Amino acid sequence: MAAAKTVAFHTLGCKLNFSETSAISRLLENEGFEKRAFDEQADVYVINTCSVTDNADKECRHLVRRIQRKSPESLVVITGCYAQLKPKEIAAIPGVDLVLGAAEKFNIVQHVKELSKGDSAKICSCDIDEVNGFNASFSVNDRTRTFLKVQDGCSYNCSFCTIPMARGKSRSDTVANVVTTANDLAATGVKEIILTGVNLGDFGKGTTGLENQENFFDLVKALENVNGIERYRISSIEPNLLTNEIIEFVANSSKFMPHFHIPMQSGSNKILGLMRRRYKKELYADRVNFIKTLMPHCAIGVDVIVGFPGETAADFQETFEFLQELDVSYLHVFTYSERDNTKALEIKPVVPVNTRLERNKTLRNLSYMKMQYFTQQHIGQTRKVLFEGYAKSAMMEGYTDNYIRITTSHRADWVNSIISWTI
Ligand code: SF4
Repeated sequence: MAAAKTVAFHTLGCKLNFSETSAISRLLENEGFEKRAFDEQADVYVINTCSVTDNADKECRHLVRRIQRKSPESLVVITGCYAQLKPKEIAAIPGVDLVLGAAEKFNIVQHVKELSKGDSAKICSCDIDEVNGFNASFSVNDRTRTFLKVQDGCSYNCSFCTIPMARGKSRSDTVANVVTTANDLAATGVKEIILTGVNLGDFGKGTTGLENQENFFDLVKALENVNGIERYRISSIEPNLLTNEIIEFVANSSKFMPHFHIPMQSGSNKILGLMRRRYKKELYADRVNFIKTLMPHCAIGVDVIVGFPGETAADFQETFEFLQELDVSYLHVFTYSERDNTKALEIKPVVPVNTRLERNKTLRNLSYMKMQYFTQQHIGQTRKVLFEGYAKSAMMEGYTDNYIRITTSHRADWVNSIISWTI
């Protein structure tokens, strides 16, 4: 691979994938590669895939076809969760040259150096049980906010989820390393860090997944003291891992924002059991009530899955009513879809797809109303907004501490600044 000097990326899926694409990109850039936009000509194209997205396979094929039409001689590398789960399927897509599994994605430089355009794709992937170690990554958004990955993998076994099979057991960085990275990011002008992971509250298992000397609360306390970082958000935390001490700390912190995202998945204990979640609805309600008692202004986002097998109309109604009563600010609604090798495939009866979609719509409407209500509660209040600038737009955008989105005309002096804003 003598002349490959430009590289382009496409990321599917979550913030974790975006932060890992950024890390992979930095590895290649350090080796002399120049980064290009995905729709530009490049010598190497890297697609970072997701196992949660529906039609991951179709999307991957479509992207590879696009590359082939535009640039048939370029090398095509596929990595990410889907590449770990279905390496052979991906390798069979015409035009793919290299498939990198979970353990190999951060060794991309070596693999790309050894690669040449050939007839069949090379697969570099091992059994997920052998995946060890932790690779820190972060992505920076206009130098204002960064998604910092501090934890990877998951040792839970929710019956619908393929992530443990795609990313392996729960592993994490150390508190000391994360603090060092936060200091480095502060030095580059970053103001806000969003702590990201697969099961963030499980932080502290070390790079082997076997350690137990640190926990997520230790990390939160240590980050509070990093000079220059003015805001932290916790991207998502399981309700059973969101302890009173974390909530109390956030309530008294000037840096951890009054904003939580807490996966719920269902408001029916029957469905939570079938999903193999580690809590009941009562615990979830208790977490929300405790947060709201200490921080009435706190934003709370909820993940919920509709149409899980066995979810009757009555079960769905129970979830709807539970959410309606709950003092939360917005919902992320996911429609259940079948995934190979998951326990949920054995659960019957299956919910018809059109019913799943109707339920999704019902909860999305509820989410809209919750968001409106939450925003209206704060009208007239003055809150702090961190503004981000968009080079090609006459507008700028930012979020209040409690995650209300503010859009206004672009002002260069407000970019990456925290401004008092009356809602
Ligand atoms: S907690 Fe459950 S849903 Fe979340 S990554 Fe782990 S297994 Fe998947």
